[in-house]
Amino acid sequence: MTEIIKLMPEALANQIAAGEVIQRPASVVKELVENSVDAGADKITVNIKDAGRTLIQVIDNGCGMSERDALKSFERHATSKIYKTDDLFCIYTKGFRGEALASISSVAEVELKTAQEGDQTGTQVIFSGGEFISQSPVSTPKGTNFAVKSLFFNVPARRKFLKADSTEFQHIITEFQRVALTHPMIEFCLYHNSQTVYSLPKASLKQRIIAVCGKNLNQDLIPVDIDTSIVKITGFTGKPQAAKKRNDKQYFFVNNRYMKNPYFNKAVLLAYDKLISPDTAPPYFLYFEIDPRTIDVNVHPTKTEINFENAGDIFKLIQAGIRETLSKNDVAPAIDFDNALAASMPYFSKSDEIPEMPRENFNPYYNPFESTRQSYAADYSPREKNNLENWQKLYQSQDTFFSADKPTVEGEKKIIQVKEKYIVSPIKSGLMIIDQYRAHYRILYNKYLLQIDNNADSIQKLLYPEKLLLDTLSSSMLYDLRDEVLSIGFDLDFTDMTSPVLKGIPPYIDKNEAEEVLNDIIDNYKEEHGSIQTSIKDILAKSLARRQAIKAGRQLNAQEMNGLIDDLFATGEPNYSPDGKTAVVILPVEEIEKKFL
Ligand code: ADP
Ligand code: MG
Repeated sequence: MTEIIKLMPEALANQIAAGEVIQRPASVVKELVENSVDAGADKITVNIKDAGRTLIQVIDNGCGMSERDALKSFERHATSKIYKTDDLFCIYTKGFRGEALASISSVAEVELKTAQEGDQTGTQVIFSGGEFISQSPVSTPKGTNFAVKSLFFNVPARRKFLKADSTEFQHIITEFQRVALTHPMIEFCLYHNSQTVYSLPKASLKQRIIAVCGKNLNQDLIPVDIDTSIVKITGFTGKPQAAKKRNDKQYFFVNNRYMKNPYFNKAVLLAYDKLISPDTAPPYFLYFEIDPRTIDVNVHPTKTEINFENAGDIFKLIQAGIRETLSKNDVAPAIDFDNALAASMPYFSKSDEIPEMPRENFNPYYNPFESTRQSYAADYSPREKNNLENWQKLYQSQDTFFSADKPTVEGEKKIIQVKEKYIVSPIKSGLMIIDQYRAHYRILYNKYLLQIDNNADSIQKLLYPEKLLLDTLSSSMLYDLRDEVLSIGFDLDFTDMTSPVLKGIPPYIDKNEAEEVLNDIIDNYKEEHGSIQTSIKDILAKSLARRQAIKAGRQLNAQEMNGLIDDLFATGEPNYSPDGKTAVVILPVEEIEKKFL
């Protein structure tokens, strides 16, 4: 009999483990920075080159390691943080698997320099692709300095799967922020290709949150302090006015570890019920302290999901606690949870669920069609004329179907508006129904696409360049997009990486609009996880068109409706809005007849 079962070589086992723990450069940053925190450092510096492909270096002033430990730390299951299985349930430190260093060193070149308090010399250890290369004395300050080079050099498949540098760096920022947000008393610095991305001095929690997530939060944070026997929750939650669509500033931390938790997120949102519009969400930074024996952190290798023994109770505590916090701060009426008081709340009552447009901004003379009429529709191109003529055939002999009391003026269609939302008109084959917003969105979108192309390379210089109020993540995304946004007329100065200055804008938009459009572009980029899949021109045209298109609720006169229909059909793509939603429905006579059977 031959034996076929063999033990896997250590290096291979580590590589396989690395597949789970080390998915991308950001995972290395997370593991190394967490180790530095565990080592008691009060200053941690992260140096990145080429989004971590070339170099990830983490330097701390923590306790350091002895010569022997420095070598041992690379062994699998080597950890100073766990001694018996009981400890598994009681860990307060970040690490505990003893896997990170073994995994990282199996898929990269790692250089470790470390020294402990009072050491004459430190020690340097080098590993490459899981193999020990050397250990030698070195002069190095107290603390630890890890340099991880050529990540995944020996795992080409992994290397290939890495996304664009901008995406990978976004992930690094995300991990960095999570750690920085849990340790305000540690000074953190992050450099990318020698540029400072973050420089965070020791601070109070609130100062740290603002430094990480943006100055505009300064006015918007309400302190939270919920103290119960099963969990203590502190931190900050946003005032309702800070709620935004696609809010990404929402953080839960459990015993100082970042946690993803859609269930508890819902509890927070419920606390804001009727205070914010349902498609928005507030920012929040909530820190849970909980007995580690009542949670299970070991459910996922990257450890952002956590199971709770008392999840249901905690849900209710969050909802009630945040609601009470809001009411104490005079942003929500004090309420009694299970009754119908909601109806008397002065915020969003049933009838004004769609907030009205602020009156003072409303210009009664503004005609959304005017610009289209002048610059575009009045002067149809031959192709547009052709499109229009084709569609006008739709109207031929409409009178045989629908006879209105008023005789039709030559060339004018019978049109009515329904619910200030739909435009309905009889056509040859039946009834045509147009969604006014989607139709206008289509018209403006096509118009802007043309304008963008016609104005390529022209920039309207701003007399007073304007500092953009962006958080660091958004600034760095905008930096990645600088060439693309320049190609559509946005000239930005990144001398100060953390607050870009707007120097020029496309000639056909105004300054106030410019900032909003840039934010739209950034949001879009975030949604696509850092890769612009749609072209930048497309995003710009959509953003401008969406902003200006007439919305439902706007009354239109006959002339406006006529203009809208003509312009819509002149685009040659009347059926759908730019985001693919139906703009025109034809109800055939046969369908109508069937209803009368
Ligand atoms: P874990 O963090 O799960 O214990 P790691 O592989 O991340 O496992 O680290 C192994 C061990 O190496 C740690 O338990 C710790 O003793 C030591 N170590 C790692 N990084 C540092 C550091 N920056 N400073 C001091 N010791 C460290
Ligand atoms: Mg660790």
